[in-house]
Amino acid sequence: MGSITLKQVVKRFDETVVIPPLDLTIEDGEFVVFVGPSGCGKSTLLRLIAGLEDVTEGVIEIDGVNATDLPPAKRGLAMVFQSYALYPHMSVRKNIAFPLKMAGMDQAAIDAKVNYAASTLNLADYIDRRPGQLSGGQRQRVAIGRAIVREPSAFLFDEPLSNLDAALRGNMRLEITELHQTLATTMVYVTHDQVEAMTMADKIVVLRAGYIEQVGSPLDLYREPANVFVAGFIGSPA
Ligand code: ADP
Ligand code: MG
Repeated sequence: MGSITLKQVVKRFDETVVIPPLDLTIEDGEFVVFVGPSGCGKSTLLRLIAGLEDVTEGVIEIDGVNATDLPPAKRGLAMVFQSYALYPHMSVRKNIAFPLKMAGMDQAAIDAKVNYAASTLNLADYIDRRPGQLSGGQRQRVAIGRAIVREPSAFLFDEPLSNLDAALRGNMRLEITELHQTLATTMVYVTHDQVEAMTMADKIVVLRAGYIEQVGSPLDLYREPANVFVAGFIGSPA
């Protein structure tokens, strides 16, 4: 579970084409990074997959099922936002439990899932604090915890580390990569940061003005960039 296929997906805002016809396959369990300069359509593409924007044309399949017209809650995906979107008046425990409560799950099952997420993310010591009493990195982990308990078939991250300072960003890069290894769940990760792309991805999708310039492993892109744009962006000597 966790494959995502885009077939001839187009997104227009009024007359402006942001995503031209685009085909892309994300395999189950892959860590895929969308990278490209600001304004190239990374967030739009992620929001189309999440169902937070409607496609103008084309088809999105999730686990082989046509999900194009499914609302976000029915897609089995979890989006992690850069702004954390935590509830300031609730404890970490309650923030993580929130989606399960909304889904009507019984308390014992909620407790088990929250405890699992908290231990996986090293949040056990902070479980009764409120977001205001946490560091930026801890808040980001709570936001990830809230995604984990839903057991999504894929996680969608939109620049999750861009609010953190450089040292913390390095730590969180490692933590998210480790989380991917632990959970073995598909992750789609948007960033404008080449270092994040090169260090985290199984597969990098380089975007420029909505077009895919190249898809490949970090090594592929480094060794054989498709063009000068990719070479320049990835920092390849070619
Ligand atoms: P990125 O995440 O790569 O910085 P975005 O996906 O946010 O890029 O934006 C891609 C392009 O689409 C930009 O030119 C942006 O102005 C435009 N865009 C994004 N959302 C909207 C919207 N709701 N209405 C009109 N234009 C939009
Ligand atoms: Mg963006």
